[in-house]
Amino acid sequence: EKTRIYNFAAGPSMLPLEVLERASSEMTNYKGSGMSVMEMSHRSKIYDSIFQDAKEKLKKILQVPDEYKILFLQGGATLQFAMVPMNLIPKTGRADYAVTGNFSENAFKEAKKYGEIRLAATSADKKHSYIPPQSQLALDAEASYFHYTANNTVYGTEWKYVPETGNIPIVCDMSSNILSKPVDVSKYGVIYAGAQKNMAPAGLTLVIIREDLAGHAFPYTPVMLDYAAMIKGDSMYNTPPCYNIYILGLVLDWIESMGGLAGMKAHNEAKAAVLYDVLDHSKLFIPHAESEARSLMNVTFRTGREELDEKFVKEATAKGFSNLKGHRATGGMRASIYNAMPMEGVRALAEFMKAFEQSNS
Ligand code: PMP
Repeated sequence: EKTRIYNFAAGPSMLPLEVLERASSEMTNYKGSGMSVMEMSHRSKIYDSIFQDAKEKLKKILQVPDEYKILFLQGGATLQFAMVPMNLIPKTGRADYAVTGNFSENAFKEAKKYGEIRLAATSADKKHSYIPPQSQLALDAEASYFHYTANNTVYGTEWKYVPETGNIPIVCDMSSNILSKPVDVSKYGVIYAGAQKNMAPAGLTLVIIREDLAGHAFPYTPVMLDYAAMIKGDSMYNTPPCYNIYILGLVLDWIESMGGLAGMKAHNEAKAAVLYDVLDHSKLFIPHAESEARSLMNVTFRTGREELDEKFVKEATAKGFSNLKGHRATGGMRASIYNAMPMEGVRALAEFMKAFEQSNS
């Protein structure tokens, strides 16, 4: 049997080995029920306890205030690019977007179908290598909400502050850094995230919404895209992604065992520091992100020569470091080091990078 490799994929990405092993041990007969979680009715008592348990654990770990609802939806973060405006824009017909990477650009473009969308800030002038400071946010006092992407998966930058927007609700795509550090949920109107980086297999989308923001959707909004209907049905208007929610519960247990989100943050900062230290001392590798904007989750770099980038990825793959090729929009390399990537994987990659530099300069 081949041993597990270090998978640096941007998502879907590594899950903690403990989670996979527990899921495997419970696969055919969950706690004496005589069936797999995959085979359970979503309305059964046994599944209900798995579902409520995952929700409660998430509420506790993220310290979600009582006036917020936790929703387990489908359609990925990309469907939220439409669901957010369909539900929130009707208030004033306008919204503000900060574009700091390709997913925020996608969110911005999608929202334009539903109202007057303004560009509150963009980092496109420097290939999305930085995060605009508060002083550069041009905020519209009539906006129904302000949208930003907390971590830019492709470019490897991360917001280090929560924008100040006064009374305007903040909507945040946290797909690629959710559960990687503590977050003050009370500063947000809506938080959403696809599950496939830090939470569960692809197919589950988490939404945390301040309840008063639901119930204002355009009349043509499909029921599945109406937050109020999803809240009313407790994410069970139809069949939810049952198995993914179960895996999320196991991942949350693992996060608890790692010291909760404070523990996760320390673990992630230590891992990222190992790779950024190699980049800072390298004469070969060029980091993409400006140092103040560096992501703890996606480390982006290049050699400056395409053939050498290719050689790096090829040799790394042969050594068991997979998926290091950068996104097609940036080229170069990207090491995604989400929660489940162990420190030893990062240290091994750092050693490989140093050895590659020695033999290629
Ligand atoms: N937003 C961000 C920040 C992402 O990283 C991704 C996926 N990589 C998406 C949105 C799109 O997510 P999904 O594939 O779940 O629609």
